[in-house]
Amino acid sequence: MNHPNEKAVSQAGVSLWINGRAQVSTSTRVGEVTNPATGEVVRRVSFANAADIDAAVSAASAALPAWRDAPPLRRARVMQKFLAIMQANQKELAQLTSEEHGKTLPDALGSVQRGIEVIEFACGVPHLLKGEYTGNAGTGVDCHTLRQAVGVCAGITPFNFPAMVPLWMFPVSIACGNTFILKPSEKVPSTSMRMAELFKEAGLPDGVFNVVHGDKEAVEAILNHPGVHAVSFVGSTPIAKYIYETCARNGKRVQALGGAKNHAVVLPDADLEFTADALIGAAYGSAGERCMAISAVVAVGAIGDPLVKMLADKAAKIKVGAGDAEGVEMGPLVTMAHRDKVEGYVNIGVAEGAKLVLDGRNKKVPGHEDGFFIGTTLFDQVKSDMKIYKDEIFGPVLVVLRADTLEEAIALVNANPYGNGTAIFTNSGGAARRFEEEIQVGMVGVNVPIPVPMAFYSFGGWKASLFGDLHMHGMEGVKFYTRTKVVTTRWPHADTPTAGLNMPTLG
Ligand code: NAD
Repeated sequence: MNHPNEKAVSQAGVSLWINGRAQVSTSTRVGEVTNPATGEVVRRVSFANAADIDAAVSAASAALPAWRDAPPLRRARVMQKFLAIMQANQKELAQLTSEEHGKTLPDALGSVQRGIEVIEFACGVPHLLKGEYTGNAGTGVDCHTLRQAVGVCAGITPFNFPAMVPLWMFPVSIACGNTFILKPSEKVPSTSMRMAELFKEAGLPDGVFNVVHGDKEAVEAILNHPGVHAVSFVGSTPIAKYIYETCARNGKRVQALGGAKNHAVVLPDADLEFTADALIGAAYGSAGERCMAISAVVAVGAIGDPLVKMLADKAAKIKVGAGDAEGVEMGPLVTMAHRDKVEGYVNIGVAEGAKLVLDGRNKKVPGHEDGFFIGTTLFDQVKSDMKIYKDEIFGPVLVVLRADTLEEAIALVNANPYGNGTAIFTNSGGAARRFEEEIQVGMVGVNVPIPVPMAFYSFGGWKASLFGDLHMHGMEGVKFYTRTKVVTTRWPHADTPTAGLNMPTLG
């Protein structure tokens, strides 16, 4: 730890945040952070090694007893100050998000807002931590439950929501009395550092919230550190599975959210224009780099042809450019490598025989020739055995499949290994109800294309989109970040029966 007290984010670089201070890693490994709209390296980020992770765990462990033992109301008051400071700095956080991720400023602002709503939820922690009580559970015996902090928690997050996904985790964890180590994506490190500074400004004691950066080396050090008790992860499915397995082997509590292929089923009775507008926003917003993006449309029956035509017309009009430019609706992809991968999928789709209705390859944005752009892309007549359907592309590529009936559409969605989000578009209450009942997906929209639950509900998918049991934020988040203790109490007096050798039955 060389330079305490330096700024968390400067033009020169992004440091680690340990024990309430910006610190530089003892490792010489750094990552380059690019502005995807210009292709320029905007800053470098210190990569943490095992010694840095150990320092973060030591700081979080030292801060734990006092923070855990503080009354929930005192912790809630820090959250309330944090809420106000985050609201006041929402624009700056959105600018940092947009600069490093590429998404448009209004979209970034919305995502920061959705994250701030989790802080709002966490402000209610005294209520959320209330336990259960049964008087006279047995003769002269009472029972109650306590929800207690798990300990030192860690969060490992993806590039696509630099503020929102970390905010799904750490406000709830910290409000519940835990201390936290966040390892954000090394592609977008600055927003987390700024949030750490703002949390300190709100009065959070040093060591309660720490931020480390890096890649596999930092993650492995977290997963293998005996001082870390719980790990929350959001990212791609192969890494989610590996995180889940490693944590389970190491005896840690774990929730690992993975990738997605989200379907929208459009029935013949759906309102065509309303549906097309909803799908355009859900498929191409944030350049398709959302875990809840609609990436596959299942058009049922006669609506297929007019829907594809309308989608193509609307998608072709989307203005692509730098995320901070006026009037731009879709920004670049996060890195050149990711842009090339997405373009590669378009080549694969053509080779597989899908009908390329709109081709976004070789997109050039004047004045931003080195940016990582790709235009809106639409495939029709896609089959379920094609790679462009089976893989998560994570770019502005929408594929349309055709089905004859609602049953066929439901079977198609349920056969997909992912189960994050889905939506049905229809005017039939009966069809919507059936879809809601039968679909094997964690988050379902009825005429709502991106059904991201509000902070007071929980976010999480099924199948290959979630390894673990509990979803994030809402009451499932509170459950994940607390351990339940059941206390059985008896106060002896003259007529209390004495304990015998048999199994007590409390009757
Ligand atoms: P990613 O899996 O590549 O990275 C996620 C995190 O894991 C990052 O912090 C990264 O540094 C770390 N990581 C990467 N490779 C690793 C390795 N080999 N060992 C250990 N750690 C490693 O994901 P990404 O590209 O940053 O984000 C996009 C993915 O995240 C998409 O698949 C998307 O669907 C998914 N995602 C899911 C949700 C959800 O709620 N289910 C939300 C957002 C994003």
